[in-house]
Amino acid sequence: MGFYVTTPIFYVNAAPHLGHAYTAIGCDILARHQRQRGEEVFFLTGTDEHGEPVAQAAEREGVSPKELADRNAARFQDLMPILNVSNDFFIRTSDERHKAAVQEIMQRVHDNGHVYKGLYEGWYCPRCADFKTEAEIGPDDTCKIHLIALTREHEENWFFRLSAFQEQLEALYADRPDFVLPRIRYNEAHSFIKGGLQDVSLSRANLTWGVTVPWDTGHVFYVWFDALLNYVTALRFARDGEDLTDAFWPATFHVMAKDILKFHCVFWPALLLAAGYALPKHVFVHGYLLMDEHKMSKSLGNVLDPFQIIDKFGTDALRYYCYREVSFGADGNVSPAGFEERYTTELANDYGNLASRTLNMLRRYADARVPEVEPEPELAGDFAGLDDEVAALLDQAQVTQALDRIWQRVRRLNRYVEEQQPWQLAKDPDRADELARVLASLAEGLRTVTVLLHPYLPESTSKLLAALGAPDITYASARFGAGTPGAVGELAPLFPKPQ
Ligand SMILES: [Zn+2]
Repeated sequence: MGFYVTTPIFYVNAAPHLGHAYTAIGCDILARHQRQRGEEVFFLTGTDEHGEPVAQAAEREGVSPKELADRNAARFQDLMPILNVSNDFFIRTSDERHKAAVQEIMQRVHDNGHVYKGLYEGWYCPRCADFKTEAEIGPDDTCKIHLIALTREHEENWFFRLSAFQEQLEALYADRPDFVLPRIRYNEAHSFIKGGLQDVSLSRANLTWGVTVPWDTGHVFYVWFDALLNYVTALRFARDGEDLTDAFWPATFHVMAKDILKFHCVFWPALLLAAGYALPKHVFVHGYLLMDEHKMSKSLGNVLDPFQIIDKFGTDALRYYCYREVSFGADGNVSPAGFEERYTTELANDYGNLASRTLNMLRRYADARVPEVEPEPELAGDFAGLDDEVAALLDQAQVTQALDRIWQRVRRLNRYVEEQQPWQLAKDPDRADELARVLASLAEGLRTVTVLLHPYLPESTSKLLAALGAPDITYASARFGAGTPGAVGELAPLFPKPQ
């Protein structure tokens, strides 16, 4: 069974921002790590293009919804290479192949007896594209997420019998405590379910920008059903002439921010059960990166703009900061000053300097070759089991914790240089063996952390491994002692001072 990771599909009405980048990078780290381990990986992202907000925005601009969607989807498609995100496919829900698959699957849900026609009356948030239950309505009938007035809807809709899945969802949560990660989100979803499930609208009658309900063509599917199904429809047509469903379904990780928890942790498993699909292994719900605007920096001002960071500091720096500063899963503050601090002390000093010092010493004291001697047993001991530990953490999408374990070793290597002082050893010809051992140990430690850091910092780690003469990034090479000493080359500073 392959490893299948998804971002939510991004709603085309918004411009790409830090939140989108954050989710996409997190999925990319997981995907790249699994590829290192030799897993078959499928990484999906894309855009959600139907629904009222897109239709309304198009009308305001005097263009068709499809024209608007084409234009805005391109911005998200272009974002992925900018972030160095290695998605295998980009799905758009306006794709005819997606629409046909949605109709076929939903017809099955209908034929299995899970839908009925009824009168909907209640409160609706157009920004959430969501009908609100009593508990979700803020003061004066407002959306608790968007703080805008809800609209009163009164229409004949098709309904999905969500209530019929009460017992099955409770059993799912009881049997699989890691179905939703982290635990705090599991608890949130679980208590929503225990609160009693109500049936939900499946269609809208007065909209045309959507996927037509095949058994009642005056309706289109409510945008959430159409959108959620992208995770299974994409597998049917992502690769020409091949259906990847058997290879990759059920998904290993659906990753998303907490605002869409209910759809993924409650509606989605029920819909899959209704359609006869196996359930995903994990839904990982992350928190928000909150902007602390009081901590401004000289070069970045007071807003952490991902595009500005990429321009000035490179993509790797953005990827690193997001996952270093805030524990993946939790909410946390980010700021331009915090970014600059980590960039300077960690990327430039801890890691970038370690890399250039090591390469310089290998060139000066060892004829630009990693000496062929056994590394220091004590240092080897400090790295023992690190590869397994990182893999176990990333199997639970603990992206920040895994990075922390690796960084502890980056710092260990810096201490090692200070303890051993190779430049002193080099002054004494009688200590040449000692010097060779220190340099070999240092090179091997640097190589090991660099292979482990590859999913986080794909660009700079590739450059560094090439300079170390050890381009292998497979996970077997992530073990301390697995390297084969070779010739080392030149390397420009990995994390230079910004211009
Ligand atoms: Zn809302």
